[in-house]
Amino acid sequence: MFAKLQYRLQNLPASLLYWLTLLLLLFFLGCAELLVFEEQAGRGAEQRVQAWHEAGNLRVLIESELNATAHIASGVASYIVARKGQIESADITPMLAELYRQGRHIRNIGIAPANRLNFIYPLVGNEAALGLYYPEVPTQWPAVRSAIEKRQPSLAGPVRMLQGGEALIYRIPVYIDQTYWGLISTAIDNERLFRHLRTLGRTLPAGFALRGRDGKGSEGEIFMGDPAAFDGNSLLLDIRIPGGNWQMAAPLPPSQGKPLVRIAAWSVALLLTGLCHLLLRALVRQGETLQALRRTESALSGQRDRLEEEVRLRTAELSHARDRAEAASRAKSRFLANISHEIRTPLNAVIGLSYILQRQQPRPEQADKLKRIDIAANHLLELLNNILDLARIEAGKLELQHEEIVPEVLAETVNAMFAEQLRQRDIAFTVNLAGMPKMLFGDSLRLGQMLINYVGNAAKFTTHGHIEVTVDCLEEKDDCARLHFRVCDTGIGLSSEQLGRIFAPFEQGDNSTTRRFGGSGLGLAICRVLAQAMDGDCGAESRLGEGSCFWFTVRLSKNAEKPALTVENHESEALRV
Ligand code: ADP
Repeated sequence: MFAKLQYRLQNLPASLLYWLTLLLLLFFLGCAELLVFEEQAGRGAEQRVQAWHEAGNLRVLIESELNATAHIASGVASYIVARKGQIESADITPMLAELYRQGRHIRNIGIAPANRLNFIYPLVGNEAALGLYYPEVPTQWPAVRSAIEKRQPSLAGPVRMLQGGEALIYRIPVYIDQTYWGLISTAIDNERLFRHLRTLGRTLPAGFALRGRDGKGSEGEIFMGDPAAFDGNSLLLDIRIPGGNWQMAAPLPPSQGKPLVRIAAWSVALLLTGLCHLLLRALVRQGETLQALRRTESALSGQRDRLEEEVRLRTAELSHARDRAEAASRAKSRFLANISHEIRTPLNAVIGLSYILQRQQPRPEQADKLKRIDIAANHLLELLNNILDLARIEAGKLELQHEEIVPEVLAETVNAMFAEQLRQRDIAFTVNLAGMPKMLFGDSLRLGQMLINYVGNAAKFTTHGHIEVTVDCLEEKDDCARLHFRVCDTGIGLSSEQLGRIFAPFEQGDNSTTRRFGGSGLGLAICRVLAQAMDGDCGAESRLGEGSCFWFTVRLSKNAEKPALTVENHESEALRV
């Protein structure tokens, strides 16, 4: 699933990337706003709880302050009941004075037996009220009558007092033996009460308001605070007062959004959008790179296919060319073998006849010509033999013999060919094959051919000094031995440039060699093929004018049964021109 999404995003067109980013931005901003809303709602609920708590405290304060004052008045009522209504001014006045002192908010306390206000404390400032008969005061009588009828104390007001200011009137109807005796009326200084409450509660909530004048609860008139508090978003709490209820409105503090929260939420939203955009862009880039790679890969694959096709065609061409070359080479070898054979027969006749003529006492000038015919014919025969050898090798027809090689016989063969002529030319000649182990098997004739070739060359290119033939055993095992033959002379020597090419067919040290010494340039090439056929190699060290050392190595078997190596494995390399 994730891989699928990744693949889709990687292949997203670049133009869609920006639309996607815009959608992400809107999404994250929406989330940010939701968070801000949730945070504000949480804070609003907290503020509500706090406001309830404060309003509840205020209600308790108001109720306890009013009740404290009411208890004082109740004490007076209890005294009157205990005295069966028999009260004298001298008794009651000190008591009222004491209660007045205790009641923090009491403005005055009045006692009205049979509804006439006969006692009032303090008298000073309230003289006008003394003797007041309630049924005759229309502003107060309905409330007084209601309290009497309900036989319940009641808190009326706030009312504007004759003496000035506003007061709450706490009235207790006194019954003695179920008979109405009179009224105790306590005026509570409204302003002082709330000033005291303000001190206790430190501050009244802003916008705080009260309604329910005369204890009429939510139906009553608003008598304190801002009337607008009851219209708006406020908490409403009932306050129990004697004989009725007040209702308090405590406005909730307006929930103010914290701009920092919004800024932080929006910042996070922007940051997340930025990160997502970067991620998407990286994925799109990755997709583009992958596509480019795929294109390159397919281009490379096409190229590789073309190259393979080309190589296949070239290989086929080469194989065809090689087949043709091999066929041509075989034809050439066949031709050479045939032509050499055909030439050798008449040439042998020329050599034989010239020999017979030389034996029949020719005249001196005839003898000289016959000698030249003989030399030329022998040279031609040597050349033909060499060409025939090479042709045989190229045709893969050369097979090495497997017979015992006797060092003495080998040395004698070489000696017999060269010792006499070299002695006549005053060139010291030694053949020392004592280093050869006994009982080795191989092609003795070809071994002799190589030595004769080397010694023949040495004799050809040496005018004085010596020629030495030696052999070393490089390695001897149970079944074979590796030998190193050397033919060293003090002849004309070769330059390093000449050394580099003389083992190739038809190569000679320099152009004048054929003219001066004869030869075909095939002898060394044949030696190399033969040495390699015997699992060895050949080479030469030489300094121009100082002589040369030609060498070859061979591996000869110690086993009379084991066949020697054939020449086919090496022919192509040895004959490379
Ligand atoms: P060639 O029939 O011409 O002697 P080879 O292949 O036997 O053919 O020799 C190739 C050439 O190598 C010779 O023509 C000669 O220039 C050079 N060469 C061979 N052996 C010697 C030697 N011992 N001293 C100097 N040059 C040599």
